[in-house]
Amino acid sequence: MLTTAVAENAYDLALENFDTAADALELNQDIRAMIKYPERVLMVTVPVRMDGGHIRRFEAYRVQHSSVRGPGKGGIRYHPQVTLDEVKALATWMTWKCAVVNIPFGGAKGGVTCDPKHMSQGELERMTRRYTSAILPLIGPDQDIPAPDVYTNPQTMAWIMDTYSMTKGYAIPGVVTGKPICLGGSLGRNEATGRGVFYTIQCTCEHLHMTLKGATVVVQGFGNAGSIAAQLLHEAGAKVIAVSDSTGCIYNQNGLNIPEVIHMKALTGHVEGFPESEAIDPNELLALNCDILVPAALENAVHAGNAAAVGAKIIAEAANGPLTPAADRNLENRGVFIIPDILCNAGGVTVSYFEWVQDEQHLFWEAQDVYDRLERVMKTAFRDVLKIRLDRKVPMRIAANMLGIGRVAEAVQIRGIYP
Ligand code: GLU
Repeated sequence: MLTTAVAENAYDLALENFDTAADALELNQDIRAMIKYPERVLMVTVPVRMDGGHIRRFEAYRVQHSSVRGPGKGGIRYHPQVTLDEVKALATWMTWKCAVVNIPFGGAKGGVTCDPKHMSQGELERMTRRYTSAILPLIGPDQDIPAPDVYTNPQTMAWIMDTYSMTKGYAIPGVVTGKPICLGGSLGRNEATGRGVFYTIQCTCEHLHMTLKGATVVVQGFGNAGSIAAQLLHEAGAKVIAVSDSTGCIYNQNGLNIPEVIHMKALTGHVEGFPESEAIDPNELLALNCDILVPAALENAVHAGNAAAVGAKIIAEAANGPLTPAADRNLENRGVFIIPDILCNAGGVTVSYFEWVQDEQHLFWEAQDVYDRLERVMKTAFRDVLKIRLDRKVPMRIAANMLGIGRVAEAVQIRGIYP
């Protein structure tokens, strides 16, 4: 039996990753002092009238880590485990992520500590609107642009867009991305994270001279990123042998019919009970022998207690921070090829950038344009990271951090300090 996740502080991990890459880049202390820590942190109380008539108070955050290369960019997360340190870590990763794919944004992130699965639509709407009004001075199309993250979606973005617009007095679609199409959302944004994960897996297979057809895949987490990645891998001929969500885990050695699993999840809200599959303990999922493991849930999914049991050759980090440093070391030492989060899942923010550009220009693109541009951006970023890995003989994670941090360092050096 494998142990469950141990508590690791994601922000400590983000700082540790920064130091490792900054050392490899030989960044001087002045530059480090200017780019390592968040520029702005806002903590707010969000009172919400619940359906029962009483008022509940939620703690919420918006962190802007960097505005060196452009406006802050990053999602908003609704989850019971949201803490300030988690949001600071996620905001930090957004800065390096945007720089890795070379889009003109800094990094930011928001979060509300709540349990959205036990809240009604009305409660979620009131909480979202009050949270928006609390962070309103910080956000805007030229300042900081939120987007969906764990347990937030296009509807959440529509409420944010409406609240912001009503306060300003006119419609401002560019204040958020990941909106519904009818409000200025982009075609292809909903599946962008999973599609980007897929492109980086394709690049990896090419690099390792592996074929995707017939490759075995395990996906942990079946939300937006995990389910779309699974779908595209399935369409490319890979065999997705197991998937899990927060309620359970299903397994079929011959491959699951992913479109049908997605259909069932949409109807019932969970994957468990899918015909032609056996239920396995979610803790056993990571230990399954497979070619590609896609952790697409939360931070710290693979840790010191379960890393040694991981049987995959490639790990594609669709989630943010799914490996603890100890797990990372264990897997690197065993020769597992890791596609790090700030590269692997950057497709979401890349199409967010495309959405923002379309909103600013009031000119909308066809889906194929979005896919083609996304593929170019992801494959260029993969090639750039791989080059650093090969030239400098460092793991992919350090190479990705070196690319992202190096670009921010160059920009801050040229900007200098004002006043
Ligand atoms: N939440 C996603 C991420 O972690 C997307 C952020 C965005 O589109 O701004 O990358």
